Amino acid sequence: MNFELTKEQQMIKEMVREFAEKEIEPNAAKWDETACFPVEIFKKMGELGILGIPFPEQYGGAGGDTISYAIAVEEIGRACGGTGLSYAAAVSLGASPIYYFGTEEQKQQWLVPMAKGETLGAFGLTEPNAGSDAGGTRTKAVLDGDEYIINGEKCWITNAGYARQVIITAVTGKDGRGKNIISAIIVPTDASGFTIRCNYDKMGVRASNTCELVLENVRVPKENVLGDPTKGFKQFLYTLDGGRISIAALAVGIAQAAFEKALKYAKERTQFGQSISKFQAIQFKLADMAMEIELARNMVYKAAWLKDQGKPFTKEASFAKLFASETGFRVCNQAIQIHGGYGYMKEYGVERHLRDIKLMEIGEGTSEIQRLVIARQLGC
Ligand SMILES: Cc1cc2nc3c(=O)[nH]c(=O)nc-3n(C[C@H](O)[C@H](O)[C@H](O)COP(=O)(O)OP(=O)(O)OC[C@H]3O[C@@H](n4cnc5c(N)ncnc54)[C@H](O)[C@@H]3O)c2cc1C
Repeated sequence: MNFELTKEQQMIKEMVREFAEKEIEPNAAKWDETACFPVEIFKKMGELGILGIPFPEQYGGAGGDTISYAIAVEEIGRACGGTGLSYAAAVSLGASPIYYFGTEEQKQQWLVPMAKGETLGAFGLTEPNAGSDAGGTRTKAVLDGDEYIINGEKCWITNAGYARQVIITAVTGKDGRGKNIISAIIVPTDASGFTIRCNYDKMGVRASNTCELVLENVRVPKENVLGDPTKGFKQFLYTLDGGRISIAALAVGIAQAAFEKALKYAKERTQFGQSISKFQAIQFKLADMAMEIELARNMVYKAAWLKDQGKPFTKEASFAKLFASETGFRVCNQAIQIHGGYGYMKEYGVERHLRDIKLMEIGEGTSEIQRLVIARQLGC
């Protein structure tokens, strides 16, 4: 693996950073305060091709690799954690499953507009009683002639309030051993009987749209089933492996923002007659923060590179997600510590990073679940 970014990856980094610093970062505190989803920013990101980075040009994408996509997530997350989460979910959860498992017709109908940034998609797996245990899904889809009739409830679904469609996981039958068969079905958000409520009052990532979904006798054509209807469980495990790379990249971006603020502040703040950056206690914190962020970033790149090579990447995606989110939380916490009392004030913007990054230890598989995945990969 080459640790130097390619020319294309470097160009994407510079382009997204410039956009994020100009259009996103100056508004991040306001969006956090008002819990406002920046829909206009998503339109602009679509025009710049940022929403289609990892998809081939034939499907409206930019033909970039997973490392380029991870770089884009990091740069957007560095500017605003909530916007970063919605971006990562739009690409990894809304669009990618259709790219991985969809038929040609589904790709043309649903993926192309998403890759071009004309529409957004969402992925509805979690339910009030099925979180880490996603196999415990209770939403049901029953085949009735040429249509599935879907009934159930989903919670905390990112971007659903702005999505054209949500990929819903639902039980569609039982296998030979009596276990539930889970399928993934593309459900248009304007389908009759589909209610989407976006009333959650979140601790962080407040610029991200998060919704509760209720499906009451929602009918969709049976062609909307994604890929092999008996493989829905395997499909979402693969989708989440990819999504974990993006959550890790987002954690790196948020941690980087907190670190940069802490370094700047440490050089400016004077106590006992000198800059606090001259105290070894502060220097050691900053050294650890810089080192751990760099290590987490390298773990993200490695997992992304393995994915691009078509090699197994489940373990490395979990390594990256677990390490980057836990490291990122420590970094954001230390960034507040370095700011002292000012860090506790909203005005300095570091407390937002801590609130935002906490979600990285929960979403797309909690830290406990990452350790289970890794242990399983180790053959335990
Ligand atoms: C802002 C936000 C956005 C989200 N976006 C989406 C989305 O777009 N789509 C979607 O489908 N979901 C989404 N989620 C849901 C998210 O993926 C779940 O919250 C997460 O998977 C954990 O599920 P849970 O919250 O039900 O926790 P639970 O599974 O109830 O876990 C509670 C605690 O028990 C621990 N635990 C559970 N099982 C085990 C075990 N076997 N061993 C050890 N510990 C265990 C967990 O680690 C955790 O600490 C989102 C959540 C949030 C908060």
